[in-house]
Amino acid sequence: MHAFLHVDREGALRAAREWDGRYARGDALPPLAGLPVAVKDIICTTGMPTTCGSRILAGWVPPYDATVVSRLRDAGAVIVGKTNLDEFAMGSSTENSGFGPTRNPWDLERVPGGSSGGSAAAVAAGMAPLALGTDTGGSIRQPAGFTGIVGMKPTYGRISRYGLVAFASSLDQIGPMARTVSDAALLLHVLAGRDPKDSTSVDLPVDNYPAALSRGVQGLRIGIAREAFGQGLQREVRAAVQAAATHLGGLGAVLTEVSLPSLPYALPTYYLLATSEASANLARYDGVQYGLRVPTDDLFTMYTRTRRQGFGNEVKRRIMLGTYALSAGYYEGFFLKAQRVRTLIRQEFLRALEGVDLVLMPVSPTVPFRLGEKVDDPLQMYLADIYTIPVNLAGLPGISVPCGFPGGLPVGLQLIGKPFDETTVLRAAHAYEQTTEWHTRRPPIVEKRERGIPHADSGRSAGTRERETEKRGSARTRKRPSRKFRKTRTRK
Ligand code: GLN
Repeated sequence: MHAFLHVDREGALRAAREWDGRYARGDALPPLAGLPVAVKDIICTTGMPTTCGSRILAGWVPPYDATVVSRLRDAGAVIVGKTNLDEFAMGSSTENSGFGPTRNPWDLERVPGGSSGGSAAAVAAGMAPLALGTDTGGSIRQPAGFTGIVGMKPTYGRISRYGLVAFASSLDQIGPMARTVSDAALLLHVLAGRDPKDSTSVDLPVDNYPAALSRGVQGLRIGIAREAFGQGLQREVRAAVQAAATHLGGLGAVLTEVSLPSLPYALPTYYLLATSEASANLARYDGVQYGLRVPTDDLFTMYTRTRRQGFGNEVKRRIMLGTYALSAGYYEGFFLKAQRVRTLIRQEFLRALEGVDLVLMPVSPTVPFRLGEKVDDPLQMYLADIYTIPVNLAGLPGISVPCGFPGGLPVGLQLIGKPFDETTVLRAAHAYEQTTEWHTRRPPIVEKRERGIPHADSGRSAGTRERETEKRGSARTRKRPSRKFRKTRTRK
């Protein structure tokens, strides 16, 4: 599937052994003790590379941990590795990764969505129960929807972004990806809260999300966004999302319709603002400070050759678009205008959310598409995020929860909440999930694997199990193990 760009085999086993030891001694354990977590490779981790899926950062190892990573470690999580993504989180299919695409565990010929496609595939295929993603225009929710898992973009400001490599700073948010809403709530609870190292993180109380899940949806007002059910929405996606709305109504939620007339402008607005911010943020990759350098005699040629070689096409396209939109003479007409439309979109959402507790719409207009289907048509690719992007523009919390599998392919339901009201979003998603069976489904290849391998638990100690897993792992080595791996084996 190519979900991971880097697996920290030794570090993960070391941490796991340590937590096993503490567990055996009966120590008090933090909330994520021993739980494997996969981290999107755009979040800084010491001791592991952070490439952002870009050749320009190949092999770069950050000198510090992102705040979310420190929080994970403090909570006992075992960080298993770094997951694949579209280069600098620009994309909706993970095909823009500089290191090759990730595949969808539900159908290996299809994309897992993006840009957090590696994290999504890892969770969906059971490689890790929890993962971190980032969402600038849908990159947590869309791949979660495409792989039948739960993904949440919290409110802008809810989680520290210190140590997250910036794409579009006014939109980027880190968030949890998991198999169930309660797992996502547990992870969010560890991540959320003010961080003195990130002045955009907000100093507001953090609810006990896991404890608040079971309150149900009785009397909750849910507004169905009228404009999100128009042209371009696949029939089977529409049917699944509408059925989910009806189901929530059956659970006691009060369904109404809300209107967000500026929704059609979200996509062009986003692609002006996100590219503008990206063009500024990506100026730092110059061959001097980080990663790749293509050496030449003069400095200017070194800059241009490094950038030409190091960046992929989508990144170059966006840097050009953003530079254009910000340039003198176009700034007012493009950038400033987009900022104004963004304000309108936010106001419309906030107005709608005065009358309802949640807004409901699809996550994506289609089921997961085939690899190669949209790579040559950027505008088609951009349309994959038509329902997720407005939520980033408005800065609101949104979740994707599985709501159907037409033809065996996952569809996500999106619920959007008021600023900093993650609790209500999670609570409604949990009520829906727990009264449907979608979250119990596993991709066919995972089911086959689980049937094929005898159950490791039967009457053996954790230690035996671990050694056996190690043996299995080394028997399965590639033809030519990496140098690091060869060394490790000789030492043993
Ligand atoms: N697919 C959108 C883009 O390409 C969103 C990406 C994201 O959320 N990081 O920009």
